[in-house]
Amino acid sequence: MRINISKIRLRKVPDLSIQYEMEEHRTWPHVFKFSGGRSSAMLLLSLLKNRCLRPSRGDVVIFNNTSAEYPATYDFASICKRITEERYNIPFFWTEFQTYEDSRRGNWTRLPSYRLVKDHPFARNRPYGYRYKGEVFEEMLSWKQRLPNHLQRLCTQHLKLETTIRFLEDWFAFKSHTSRLGHWYRKSKVSRLRREDLERIVSYHLSTSTTRSSQKFQDYTQASHVRIRNSGIKNRAFGGTAELKGDNPVDFITLVGLRADEFQRVARVKTRNNSGLSDSNPDKLAHGEYIYTPLADHGVTKNDTMEFWKKQSWDLRIPHSVNFSNCVYCFMKGKRTLRRIIKDQSENSLPPKHQKTPVDIEWWIDIEDKYARRVASTKTGNSVTRFGFFGANSPTTYASLREDIEEEQPIFIDDSMPCDCTD
Ligand code: SF4
Repeated sequence: MRINISKIRLRKVPDLSIQYEMEEHRTWPHVFKFSGGRSSAMLLLSLLKNRCLRPSRGDVVIFNNTSAEYPATYDFASICKRITEERYNIPFFWTEFQTYEDSRRGNWTRLPSYRLVKDHPFARNRPYGYRYKGEVFEEMLSWKQRLPNHLQRLCTQHLKLETTIRFLEDWFAFKSHTSRLGHWYRKSKVSRLRREDLERIVSYHLSTSTTRSSQKFQDYTQASHVRIRNSGIKNRAFGGTAELKGDNPVDFITLVGLRADEFQRVARVKTRNNSGLSDSNPDKLAHGEYIYTPLADHGVTKNDTMEFWKKQSWDLRIPHSVNFSNCVYCFMKGKRTLRRIIKDQSENSLPPKHQKTPVDIEWWIDIEDKYARRVASTKTGNSVTRFGFFGANSPTTYASLREDIEEEQPIFIDDSMPCDCTD
């Protein structure tokens, strides 16, 4: 059921602002990376109330959907999107990773891209809605032919960071729509024969659309079209795409909801800012990006955000006691936290709509079984290394965690590692 946002009154929104480190930063477009969590939403509402975001500067809010979030996160992100667009006229886009087919160096292949989606669930009769059954996550796994783990967070890289960059390349080019991508043949051109040994793994992404359709930005936002007047980014687009790397990249501000108690993550962000200023940094996805953490700068902690949400008539409907944030069973959450989620979910039967989706541990068990790589040792030939979500030959798997819950200690400690997905 959609909440009537005209009835929502925001109470005691803190007076947070951006403490600019350089005067010129005020003119750079501001990109708010919305994580779907309470801290991120509190920061967004506060900056909106204090008129810190301006559409004419090219400011935009982005939420990258992994299709593996908790259902309440989608409802919460939808309310935040509608408040942002309908009350403050700032565009708030939901994006999803997707692949398409084209040729590269004489071969047909699949290439990464993104699409815009609306804030209602995807269905056959509502094809522009967001995916929530793990489709986006699985397309990425099938395309990469392996699973992410805590050392190689492929999901963060492809579903979030690079998807945002691809979106910004279009957004900063002042385009009214994204380009159609992919070949014009009716059928797939990627050879399945060469992939025979990997048939089970690659079949998912090869069954998705061979093209990426053109989409009008205006169709995916309730913010009315405002002409961007920002001379700083005007001449940085070539061939319909804004330059985000190289000698003359678009300079922009990124706003993230890191709090004062997340000091290690804040410190890492600040280090990245400084390395980007000194010289060209090949690992940095956008050379002109400068990240601000206004919550941390104002000393806002987790307790402050909890106090803020206690005063509101609406909230993220996720209990504080269980860590359901980000992808529900994210492998970065740690064994104890994951067991806690499994136990909680097993005590509350899932509605049929959510069975065998990422809210259900069975989905993660099946995905791990399907995409874990098994590599034979080149030395002995008869030992096999298995690369799962928890590393090489790890005894921990999603299946083992499900079996463990009966033995779990009654005291649960949150042992999650920050997944840093939006930093
Ligand atoms: S929340 Fe975890 S599983 Fe989801 S994209 Fe981030 S690191 Fe990957």
